[in-house]
Amino acid sequence: MTVDTNQQITACVEFSNIFLHPLLDESQGVSNQANRREQAMLRTQAEKMCAQCPLQAQCLTDAVTKFDVSGFVAGTTKRQRQEIRARLGVNLADDDFDSYAGVTSGRQFDRAEIHRLRMANPTEPLSAIAARVGCSVSTVKRHLRRIEREGLPTRTNESRTVTPEEVMAVAADVVNGTRRSAAA
Ligand code: SF4
Repeated sequence: MTVDTNQQITACVEFSNIFLHPLLDESQGVSNQANRREQAMLRTQAEKMCAQCPLQAQCLTDAVTKFDVSGFVAGTTKRQRQEIRARLGVNLADDDFDSYAGVTSGRQFDRAEIHRLRMANPTEPLSAIAARVGCSVSTVKRHLRRIEREGLPTRTNESRTVTPEEVMAVAADVVNGTRRSAAA
Protein backbone atom coordinates (compact mmCIF):
# COMPACT_ATOMS: atom_id res chain seq x y z
CA MET A 1 0.00 0.00 0.00
CA THR A 2 1.26 3.49 -0.83
CA VAL A 3 1.13 5.69 2.21
CA ASP A 4 1.20 9.47 2.40
CA THR A 5 3.14 10.14 5.55
CA ASN A 6 1.62 13.65 5.79
CA GLN A 7 -1.92 12.35 5.96
CA GLN A 8 -4.31 12.97 8.80
CA ILE A 9 -5.47 10.20 11.08
CA THR A 10 -8.04 8.01 9.33
CA ALA A 11 -11.68 8.20 10.37
CA CYS A 12 -11.74 4.54 11.42
CA VAL A 13 -9.12 5.37 14.06
CA GLU A 14 -10.50 8.75 15.05
CA PHE A 15 -14.07 7.47 15.31
CA SER A 16 -13.36 3.95 16.49
CA ASN A 17 -16.46 4.23 18.71
CA ILE A 18 -18.52 4.08 15.48
CA PHE A 19 -16.43 1.59 13.52
CA LEU A 20 -16.14 -0.76 16.48
CA HIS A 21 -19.73 -0.42 17.60
CA PRO A 22 -21.17 -3.91 18.34
CA LEU A 23 -24.13 -3.14 16.05
CA LEU A 24 -21.72 -3.03 13.09
CA ASP A 25 -20.47 -6.51 13.92
CA GLU A 26 -22.58 -8.86 11.79
CA SER A 27 -21.86 -11.79 14.04
CA GLN A 28 -24.10 -10.15 16.66
CA GLY A 29 -27.84 -10.46 16.02
CA VAL A 30 -29.97 -7.28 15.93
CA SER A 31 -32.98 -7.96 18.05
CA ASN A 32 -35.38 -5.04 17.79
CA GLN A 33 -36.41 -2.14 15.64
CA ALA A 34 -34.62 0.50 17.73
CA ASN A 35 -31.36 -1.41 17.31
CA ARG A 36 -31.98 -1.83 13.60
CA ARG A 37 -32.48 1.94 13.26
CA GLU A 38 -29.31 2.64 15.22
CA GLN A 39 -27.41 0.07 13.14
CA ALA A 40 -28.57 1.77 9.91
CA MET A 41 -27.51 5.17 11.28
CA LEU A 42 -24.07 3.91 12.32
CA ARG A 43 -23.56 2.22 8.98
CA THR A 44 -24.50 5.41 7.11
CA GLN A 45 -22.05 7.44 9.21
CA ALA A 46 -19.23 4.95 8.66
CA GLU A 47 -19.99 4.70 4.93
CA LYS A 48 -19.81 8.49 4.56
CA MET A 49 -16.48 8.65 6.38
CA CYS A 50 -14.98 5.88 4.25
CA ALA A 51 -16.32 7.50 1.05
CA GLN A 52 -14.36 10.65 1.94
CA CYS A 53 -11.19 8.77 2.90
CA PRO A 54 -8.38 9.07 0.33
CA LEU A 55 -7.27 5.52 1.16
CA GLN A 56 -10.62 3.87 0.46
CA ALA A 57 -9.80 2.12 -2.84
CA GLN A 58 -6.55 0.62 -1.52
CA CYS A 59 -8.04 -0.10 1.90
CA LEU A 60 -10.90 -2.04 0.32
CA THR A 61 -8.60 -3.83 -2.12
CA ASP A 62 -6.40 -4.99 0.76
CA ALA A 63 -9.43 -6.05 2.80
CA VAL A 64 -10.75 -8.05 -0.17
CA THR A 65 -7.51 -9.58 -1.45
CA LYS A 66 -5.18 -9.81 1.55
CA PHE A 67 -6.75 -9.43 4.96
CA ASP A 68 -9.92 -11.21 6.00
CA VAL A 69 -10.55 -8.77 8.82
CA SER A 70 -13.81 -8.49 10.69
CA GLY A 71 -15.95 -5.40 11.17
CA PHE A 72 -16.80 -2.45 8.96
CA VAL A 73 -13.95 -1.59 6.55
CA ALA A 74 -13.81 0.78 3.57
CA GLY A 75 -17.57 1.16 3.32
CA THR A 76 -18.29 -2.58 3.49
CA THR A 77 -19.29 -5.21 6.00
CA LYS A 78 -17.50 -8.55 6.31
CA ARG A 79 -20.42 -10.28 4.55
CA GLN A 80 -20.31 -7.79 1.68
CA ARG A 81 -16.57 -8.38 1.27
CA GLN A 82 -17.22 -12.11 1.05
CA GLU A 83 -19.64 -11.43 -1.79
CA ILE A 84 -17.16 -9.11 -3.51
CA ARG A 85 -14.53 -11.87 -3.34
CA ALA A 86 -16.97 -14.41 -4.74
CA ARG A 87 -17.84 -12.15 -7.68
CA LEU A 88 -14.19 -11.37 -8.39
CA GLY A 89 -13.05 -14.96 -8.01
CA VAL A 90 -10.68 -14.09 -5.18
CA ASN A 91 -10.03 -16.85 -2.67
CA LEU A 92 -8.37 -16.31 0.66
CA ALA A 93 -7.01 -19.26 2.54
CA ASP A 94 -8.90 -20.17 5.67
CA ASP A 95 -8.23 -17.90 8.62
CA ASP A 96 -5.00 -18.72 10.33
CA PHE A 97 -6.20 -18.72 13.90
CA ASP A 98 -2.61 -18.57 15.11
CA SER A 99 -2.58 -15.02 13.79
CA TYR A 100 -5.29 -13.86 16.17
CA ALA A 101 -3.83 -11.48 18.66
CA GLY A 102 -6.39 -12.17 21.33
CA VAL A 103 -9.88 -11.54 22.54
CA THR A 104 -10.97 -8.33 24.23
CA SER A 105 -14.49 -7.59 25.40
CA GLY A 106 -15.71 -10.59 23.47
CA ARG A 107 -14.31 -9.24 20.19
CA GLN A 108 -11.63 -11.03 18.23
CA PHE A 109 -8.98 -8.97 16.51
CA ASP A 110 -6.15 -10.18 14.36
CA ARG A 111 -2.67 -9.24 13.35
CA ALA A 112 -3.77 -8.46 9.80
CA GLU A 113 -6.03 -5.70 11.12
CA ILE A 114 -3.17 -4.23 13.17
CA HIS A 115 -0.95 -4.30 10.09
CA ARG A 116 -3.64 -2.73 7.89
CA LEU A 117 -4.22 0.10 10.35
CA ARG A 118 -0.50 0.72 10.78
CA MET A 119 -0.07 1.05 7.02
CA ALA A 120 -3.03 3.44 6.81
CA ASN A 121 -1.89 5.53 9.80
CA PRO A 122 1.92 5.48 9.77
CA THR A 123 2.37 8.65 11.77
CA GLU A 124 -0.19 7.98 14.46
CA PRO A 125 0.81 6.83 17.94
CA LEU A 126 0.37 3.12 18.52
CA SER A 127 -2.20 3.97 21.18
CA ALA A 128 -4.56 5.03 18.35
CA ILE A 129 -4.17 1.61 16.68
CA ALA A 130 -4.65 -0.08 20.04
CA ALA A 131 -7.85 1.90 20.62
CA ARG A 132 -9.13 0.95 17.18
CA VAL A 133 -8.64 -2.78 17.59
CA GLY A 134 -9.43 -2.81 21.29
CA CYS A 135 -6.17 -4.12 22.71
CA SER A 136 -3.20 -2.78 24.65
CA VAL A 137 -0.33 -0.80 23.16
CA SER A 138 2.06 -3.57 24.17
CA THR A 139 -0.02 -6.06 22.19
CA VAL A 140 0.17 -3.82 19.11
CA LYS A 141 3.95 -3.49 19.55
CA ARG A 142 4.35 -7.22 19.99
CA HIS A 143 2.46 -7.97 16.79
CA LEU A 144 4.18 -5.27 14.75
CA ARG A 145 7.54 -6.66 15.85
CA ARG A 146 6.43 -10.13 14.80
CA ILE A 147 5.14 -8.86 11.45
CA GLU A 148 8.48 -7.16 10.85
CA ARG A 149 10.39 -10.27 11.83
CA GLU A 150 8.35 -12.78 9.87
CA GLY A 151 6.56 -10.67 7.29
CA LEU A 152 2.79 -10.70 7.17
CA PRO A 153 1.52 -13.90 5.60
CA THR A 154 -0.41 -13.14 2.43
CA ARG A 155 -3.50 -15.27 2.32
CA THR A 156 -4.53 -14.33 -1.21
CA ASN A 157 -4.84 -16.87 -3.96
CA GLU A 158 -2.16 -15.35 -6.19
CA SER A 159 -3.77 -16.75 -9.34
CA ARG A 160 -6.31 -13.92 -9.30
CA THR A 161 -5.06 -10.35 -9.34
CA VAL A 162 -7.59 -7.57 -9.21
CA THR A 163 -7.18 -3.82 -9.48
CA PRO A 164 -8.60 -1.30 -6.98
CA GLU A 165 -10.89 -0.04 -9.79
CA GLU A 166 -12.37 -3.54 -10.25
CA VAL A 167 -12.83 -3.96 -6.52
CA MET A 168 -14.53 -0.56 -6.16
CA ALA A 169 -16.89 -1.23 -9.08
CA VAL A 170 -18.00 -4.61 -7.72
CA ALA A 171 -18.26 -3.19 -4.20
CA ALA A 172 -20.61 -0.43 -5.39
CA ASP A 173 -22.85 -3.07 -6.95
CA VAL A 174 -22.82 -5.27 -3.84
CA VAL A 175 -23.47 -2.37 -1.43
CA ASN A 176 -26.31 -1.04 -3.61
CA GLY A 177 -27.80 -4.54 -3.73
CA THR A 178 -27.71 -4.69 0.07
CA ARG A 179 -29.47 -1.32 0.28
CA ARG A 180 -32.17 -2.43 -2.18
CA SER A 181 -32.78 -5.62 -0.17
CA ALA A 182 -33.01 -3.65 3.09
CA ALA A 183 -35.52 -1.23 1.57
CA ALA A 184 -37.72 -3.99 0.07
S1 SF4 B 1 -11.52 3.67 4.00
FE1 SF4 B 1 -10.33 2.29 5.30
S2 SF4 B 1 -8.69 3.56 6.16
FE2 SF4 B 1 -10.27 4.96 5.35
S3 SF4 B 1 -11.65 5.39 7.10
FE3 SF4 B 1 -12.54 3.66 5.99
S4 SF4 B 1 -11.72 1.79 7.02
FE4 SF4 B 1 -10.42 3.56 7.62
